[in-house]
Amino acid sequence: MNILVYCGARLGNDPLLQTTAERVGHAIVDRGWNLIYGGGGVGLMGILARTVIQRDGHVTGIIPTFLNTAEVALDECSTLIEVETMHERKQLMIEMADCIVALPGGFGTLDELFEALTWRQLGLHACPVGLLNVDGYYDSLVALRNDLHRRAFLDDTVASFLTVDDSIESLFDALKREHEANGVPKPTQLERS
Ligand code: AMP
Repeated sequence: MNILVYCGARLGNDPLLQTTAERVGHAIVDRGWNLIYGGGGVGLMGILARTVIQRDGHVTGIIPTFLNTAEVALDECSTLIEVETMHERKQLMIEMADCIVALPGGFGTLDELFEALTWRQLGLHACPVGLLNVDGYYDSLVALRNDLHRRAFLDDTVASFLTVDDSIESLFDALKREHEANGVPKPTQLERS
């Protein structure tokens, strides 16, 4: 499984979330999965990628050249791909992924998460999308999703595209089950944007 992880380019102010990024890295290696991520060495993304690399796991980082300074591309990645734009980065990451998970982060993480959800809604890919709701970090987002569903702006299927769990193991299990049930169609026709 190639798991695409979105997470903050900052550390945040709660050490629990930094520990969580490490635990996610260990869980990925324990399962023999490959990590795909934004390629930076800073914030939670840096912690996650370094954890996987230190355990000899496989990490593919995809970073736009202009961000190389701000997010300091992690040279130790097994594969580091430089692209020109954010759109190329986000598209290539999804094209390579079998499943997607968002950990705590800021606007960038939310942007990536919502893009994964809207592209799934449009049928542009079939990757399961998970939200790790550690310590209630995403309670407000889950409440918003439920409210939009109640107001009929998300139908049952679309609302169900976001799998939420506070446990890494059960979230990973759910994403794997969904990936297998999908019959593994790879993303085919993501729009060039
Ligand atoms: P953040 O969650 O804001 O710390 O950002 C996490 C990652 O999302 C970083 O690698 C950003 O480069 C990336 N990102 C993706 N899309 C955007 C966007 N539209 N604006 C800012 N950052 C973004």
